[in-house]
Amino acid sequence: MNPSSCDRAREWMSDWLAGDLSMDEQASLEAHLSGCDSCRTVLDRLLLQDRALGEMVGASLSAALEARVRQALASIAPVEATRKSVGP
Ligand SMILES: [Zn+2]
Repeated sequence: MNPSSCDRAREWMSDWLAGDLSMDEQASLEAHLSGCDSCRTVLDRLLLQDRALGEMVGASLSAALEARVRQALASIAPVEATRKSVGP
């Protein structure tokens, strides 16, 4: 992935979190995330920040958005999804 497409992906992420991303852009973002570990890490961090902010203002919208985004990520990031916790 070249750096300029990562820059664009990060703009899309903030638009996505704001609920302001077109279907075409969302598809492009998901395609980029499927091939870019660093952008997946960035999005994960954004989601954590978003949830922390939501808890501060008592909003439940971001939790629903996070669930939706995580579902989308799970479908494009099977490596993370298959990681299991080891326990008794
Ligand atoms: Zn990227």
